[in-house]
Amino acid sequence: MLARGSDPKSELAGHILTAVRSVLGGTSSLIPLHEPEFGGAEWTFVKDCLDTGWVSSVGGYVDRFERDLAAFTGVSHAIVTANGTAALHICLILAGVKAGDEVLAPALTFVGTANAIAYASATPHFVDSESRTLGVDAERLEAHLSQVAILKGGRCVNRSTGATIRALVVMHAFGHPCDLDALSALADRWKLVLIEDAAESLGSLHNGVHTGNVGRVSALSFNGNKILTTGGGGALLTNDPELGRRAKHLTTTARVADRWNFRHDEVGYNYRLPNLNAALGCAQLERLPNMLARKRLLAERYAAAFETVPGVEFLREPAGSASNYWLNTILLPEDHDDALGDVLETLNASGYMSRPVWTLMHLLPMYVACPRADLAGSESLATRVVNLPSSPRLVDAPAS
Ligand SMILES: *Cc1c(COP(=O)(O)O)cnc(C)c1O
Repeated sequence: MLARGSDPKSELAGHILTAVRSVLGGTSSLIPLHEPEFGGAEWTFVKDCLDTGWVSSVGGYVDRFERDLAAFTGVSHAIVTANGTAALHICLILAGVKAGDEVLAPALTFVGTANAIAYASATPHFVDSESRTLGVDAERLEAHLSQVAILKGGRCVNRSTGATIRALVVMHAFGHPCDLDALSALADRWKLVLIEDAAESLGSLHNGVHTGNVGRVSALSFNGNKILTTGGGGALLTNDPELGRRAKHLTTTARVADRWNFRHDEVGYNYRLPNLNAALGCAQLERLPNMLARKRLLAERYAAAFETVPGVEFLREPAGSASNYWLNTILLPEDHDDALGDVLETLNASGYMSRPVWTLMHLLPMYVACPRADLAGSESLATRVVNLPSSPRLVDAPAS
């Protein structure tokens, strides 16, 4: 298959294929990037919804899933939503983001992060990411703000656009916690509200604390490709009781409690997670520790296999963090000479579904004109990141 065996690019692809095959074994069908796994109370809980008729926007599983998520993450308030992007949208509103504001966010992220900023009628201001965590580079962001922003009356103002830079959204890429210590100190210094896009990091800890605890508000996603799925869904997390109450109100059409009158006191959103989906979530959450354990084992196997592949780095959890290893990631060498296409071609053709990182946000047509920092780090990463098959089922359930 490696027709151009003497080409160093193909040689690199061949080495990577050998390493992946040594972990996953040979395959005659395509091994997906990340598959959902149902093996516990999912059928019982969903059937219970059908049997009782509580399938829609209210029901016992919604309340239970919110309690269970708060207990699991250690965040005091969890409000479930229709999807992760909706949760992020409400995060931005609760952070006080107003029309015309700018919001700092990584260029290297899923489009939902930037879209949520646009839904809040604000402008994303893209910043760079670093190769250790794939999260926002705190040092480079500090340097960028020193150049383009000024503190004025307790606000961070963009000196060239005049807009208030209201918030900083950080993202825990593929489950690896970003540098929260440095980034939260930076947010304090620059009077920015810190928001964690924790869509990919359910089960990931930073300094022993679950991601989503440091931001004033944070968002989770339970989309089908995430570590825990409700079909589609998300949650907003906050340790502020007033923001928790506001989040519940805004995501449930801002209805005022009343015996029978339908009265709404502001423009709310129908962002509720149906009981049917919450039931799935309750069952999935019971199995999450087991899935996390197997994903960690898979990551260790990849790490060992890639130790012998010259120039290729398997992305380990950052120091002080425990990653959920949602997607296992390798970084191609910096001087790889456009090997990315060859590597993806080789792995996918051999039955191992592999994907590059997202197209950087500032290259998408709707965001090309947005303000941005120098994005050299993200641009390099976009040519080097390869995600490998990461489903928990790729490791046998541990004997219990
Ligand atoms: C999945 C994801 C989202 C959005 O979640 P949806 O539930 O698909 O709306 C947001 N940000 C990141 C980084 C994600 O990976």
